Amino acid sequence: MSIRSKLVALAVTAVSVLALSAGVVAPAHADTNAMIVPASGTVYGQWHKYCDNAPGGYDHNGVDISNAAGGPIWAAAAGTVVASSYSGTLGNRITIDHGAGWRTVYAHLKTGTLIANGTHVSQGQQIAQMGNTGGNYAVHLHFETWYNGASQQFVNNYFTCFKNVVRGTPIPLNYPGLDGGTATSSLPLMQVYAGSGWQQGYTGIDFTGASDISAIYMGGTWPTVMAIKDNTLYQIYGSETEGWQANPTNVTFSPGASISAVNFNGTIQVMATDNNTVYQIYPDYSAGQWVKASTGIQASGQISSVVVPGSNWPTSIVSVGGALHLVWADSAGWHIGNTGVTASGRISAVLDGGNLPQVYSVENGLLYQTFAGPNGWVKISTGLGANGAPSALKVGNTLEVIVTSNGQLYQAYYGSNGWASAGGLGIASSNLFSAVYLGGDQPQIMKLG
Ligand SMILES: [Zn+2]
Repeated sequence: MSIRSKLVALAVTAVSVLALSAGVVAPAHADTNAMIVPASGTVYGQWHKYCDNAPGGYDHNGVDISNAAGGPIWAAAAGTVVASSYSGTLGNRITIDHGAGWRTVYAHLKTGTLIANGTHVSQGQQIAQMGNTGGNYAVHLHFETWYNGASQQFVNNYFTCFKNVVRGTPIPLNYPGLDGGTATSSLPLMQVYAGSGWQQGYTGIDFTGASDISAIYMGGTWPTVMAIKDNTLYQIYGSETEGWQANPTNVTFSPGASISAVNFNGTIQVMATDNNTVYQIYPDYSAGQWVKASTGIQASGQISSVVVPGSNWPTSIVSVGGALHLVWADSAGWHIGNTGVTASGRISAVLDGGNLPQVYSVENGLLYQTFAGPNGWVKISTGLGANGAPSALKVGNTLEVIVTSNGQLYQAYYGSNGWASAGGLGIASSNLFSAVYLGGDQPQIMKLG
């Protein structure tokens, strides 16, 4: 059959992560340019790096803009001054809350030039003058950008080392929720990872309009994310050196489509339900585009897929009208079978040995586990409370489920005493998220909002 022969061909040309739309960058959004450069000067420091590679750079949470003392410093966006005082190594510093989770910090300011705490400022309003206060090496502005409680790396994409920047210039990066420097609503793509505690970083990609997300590990240091936005399939990937990119593919969907991506022997495969049909989507590298091939299986609802070792096709669970169905292929073609188990809401399948996936669902305030027993499929409660959505995965040898409840992320794992909660991550999330294992002790989580 054609899909099988395609897969054989793909196996020869498989690479880990390939940008099929090289050169295409994230489309412009109203949130772009929402902040302006607060001071003129030369960039001598970045987030987690001093440009001269001086020690201690890893602890540096902002960008340094050097110039002569007394130069005006402007508010990068509209907001309210929530701190204006002397603060240890930062010296005189001002913090502005812009709303929508955004804050900026301005430090080492010249004494006697600070705008008062509690003042509402407009974008471009002067708030201080450049100085040399606090633990400092020379006159400069130390400028931090915070989002949802974490200092942000993506500003490095504009504030590159030794660049001369000009006060008032719009910063051509995405600031979800800020439009023209004023707070609006948005759906930012965030990367959640374990460092010293759980942390989250903004990818710089505003994915307002997204309807489904599936993260996989294709090698490298960061996950690959497949997502549906505005009924188009996107491939999102990044690295610590090059940042994140969102590339639209040639694949489109109808409203209500669902996707689940897998790493199929080094090639991205995306199983999808769309228009009451199950599709297999994969890259055709020679043609430079993605192929959306019908399996001929009629099903709608949310899909979640796994890779069974030795199989030539992904295996999926599809929630058809609330009934879990298994979709798989063999040399005779694609098949669908009803498990006889019902489940509502978002589902997540994971393989934990054997040839059949387990399925997790959140219903009636509990996290449920569905699996194939010796007498057929069974569904049991894990005993763990939740009211959001699950994302199940293997973290090394440990079976885990990341689950949202009351808009917060929680971690559950299967240990020697059965299912247990590892507690909350202290990070809010929508139900559009996907946990992925890259190695080490903890998963990462790619989430929207
Ligand atoms: Zn600094």
